[in-house]
Amino acid sequence: SAPLPDPGEPVDTHCPYCSLQCGMGLRRLPAGTSDAPAEVVERPAFPVNRGALCGKGRTAARLLAPGARLTEPLVRDPATGRLVPADWDTALARVAAGLSRTGAAHGKDAVGVFGGGGLTNEKAYALGKFARVVLGTSQIDYNGRFCMSSAAAAHQRAFGLDRGLPFPLADIARTGCVVLVGSNLAETMPPALRYLTELKENGGRLIVVDPRRTRTAEQADLHLAPRPGTDLALALGLLHLVVAEGRTDEEFIAARTSGWPAARAAAMAHWPELAERVTGVPVPQLRAAVRLFCAADSAMVLTARGPEQQSKGTDTVGAWINLCLATGHAGREHSGYGCLTGQGNGQGGREHGQKADQLPGYRKLSDPAARAHVAEVWGVPPESLPGPGRSAYELLDALGRDVRALLLMGSNPVVSAPRAAHVEQRIRALDFLAVADVVLSETATLADVVLPVAQWAEETGTTTNLEGRVLLRRRALPPPPGVRTDLQVLHSLAALLGWEKGFPADPEETFDELRRASAGGPADYAGITYRRIAAEDGVFWPCSGEDHPGTPRLFLDRFATPDGRARFAPVTHRPAAEEPDDRYPVVLTTGRVLAQYQSGAQTRRVPELATAAPGPYVEIHPRLARQYGIEDGRLVAVVSRRGRAVAPARFSEAIRADTVFMPFHWPGPGRANTLTNPALDPVSGMPEFKMCAVRLEPVEES
Ligand code: SF4
Repeated sequence: SAPLPDPGEPVDTHCPYCSLQCGMGLRRLPAGTSDAPAEVVERPAFPVNRGALCGKGRTAARLLAPGARLTEPLVRDPATGRLVPADWDTALARVAAGLSRTGAAHGKDAVGVFGGGGLTNEKAYALGKFARVVLGTSQIDYNGRFCMSSAAAAHQRAFGLDRGLPFPLADIARTGCVVLVGSNLAETMPPALRYLTELKENGGRLIVVDPRRTRTAEQADLHLAPRPGTDLALALGLLHLVVAEGRTDEEFIAARTSGWPAARAAAMAHWPELAERVTGVPVPQLRAAVRLFCAADSAMVLTARGPEQQSKGTDTVGAWINLCLATGHAGREHSGYGCLTGQGNGQGGREHGQKADQLPGYRKLSDPAARAHVAEVWGVPPESLPGPGRSAYELLDALGRDVRALLLMGSNPVVSAPRAAHVEQRIRALDFLAVADVVLSETATLADVVLPVAQWAEETGTTTNLEGRVLLRRRALPPPPGVRTDLQVLHSLAALLGWEKGFPADPEETFDELRRASAGGPADYAGITYRRIAAEDGVFWPCSGEDHPGTPRLFLDRFATPDGRARFAPVTHRPAAEEPDDRYPVVLTTGRVLAQYQSGAQTRRVPELATAAPGPYVEIHPRLARQYGIEDGRLVAVVSRRGRAVAPARFSEAIRADTVFMPFHWPGPGRANTLTNPALDPVSGMPEFKMCAVRLEPVEES
């Protein structure tokens, strides 16, 4: 690794949490001057956030303190059943033995690998390679499947290429109208709010679609509050009005798209009154939205988890893309559809091979030419590479049955997976579980071996933010003694498992191999080097050579489909997998809060964040609460077909009176994902986190 900077000299790096990947400086502190070994400082020159950070970013150095995290391997003592400290040789030997024993006894596909959208590009690449060439298993997927996989699938279907935002964030401030669907930017990535503020200062208009009147919705010129799970019907209703009012861009449709007649027919069968009945959004509001969207010369639709985490997520996003295409708001400067990815490396994490059906460079595992290219880089015959595996929930559901041993890196499915109690049961049924993590997460407590790994600031690596901008996180301080990097772990395991061709432990060496593996693929990183990233504040992929400038804006001349045209999808409305009924009459939707991140494994351990957001709650409209005798601040049980969660009620008039909201960051009795529905989108494998049917029961408190 590169030498460490002098203490006191801030190192340019990026936040370890969300996909905005805010630039920050990290300054090492003299020993004994603070609880943390370093402090976060502003980095105003980085263009994405210009120095602004949310509370999570500002406190990110807290977890670097040895007391806040794992600093020695743990192995399960067969005599007591407890996790006890062990040395690295013992721990790694146990992992190698657990994985190889299972493969030998039950076949290679009995060994699974589960990754995370927070892993750097280098780690995501190495994990996918490790699964396919060292373990020889097809059973690898990652938690990004739960994040934006349906938007990725819709992007691929419509444009032939998936990059979350096909334009830089700065374009948001320069467009005429933004429709923000199911995103609460004010809580999930506050520094990005400035783009919406600048949009309005420049005379642009903002429409927010969200069942809750969130802090983001409060900024909107128009807030549409559909019932959860009906975003597809809403988009169809809007497209119907666009056609009926003669607001389509026929020239654009003819020149740059295909499939319009079928998509038009599907929208015309979905008249606005039907949209109102399904979504609860009145027709005059639909008309107002169409007026704002179509009056602008340029416009964008940006989606996030609201429309994406549905069992019809791909078609739902497709319906919003149709709206962009029909109005000519795509493939032009300051216009288009984009997905606001969630996890820190949500974009890069899905490009380099930890996804069940993909190889590095966003190549398809089922494509013979892609297999041949990557196999050559890896020095193996193409036919030795396994085929596509199960999607994330299907993989978790197979644990203890077809998949009997699991290596898990950078994920905490006991809290973050849908139908979490069932997933926990499946994990407990495994013959062998190894977890590499920074902290003893709820999933790690179930492991046979826990490997303590380095954090963002202790190792160099790249991430790709939601714009497709590849960024460099630099090593700013050494990990505590007893901690190794994920790449070192994979390097050692590969050697123990008999892989003789070398498995780089060095991040830059791994990245150079990734560049070769991605060369010529859809996500081409061939021309991106650590040196360039540092010099240019990030480089946008695709970038095919070191003299290529990178690609901040995609699709301006042609879309990435074989004929260069964007494809309409003829989508129709269908109900959620589980609609309310007499037994479960209320809708539950889930999401995030400002001071916590994902499963909370890291942020729950940061004192400032734990104080700001100490536990789960049930946001409920007072009118709905009165029907069930529920009091503000008192415990309420939320019961679905999959289980029961208990948390205090929090009254709010900002939520629909037929819906309750729970944040999902906590384990224990208030674990929201105990309730959620693993009904999967057939195209992407995305579970239906955003909508399930529940009943409410007041809880007697002693
Ligand atoms: Fe970190 Fe995201 Fe907050 Fe920026 S917005 S500081 S990347 S958590």
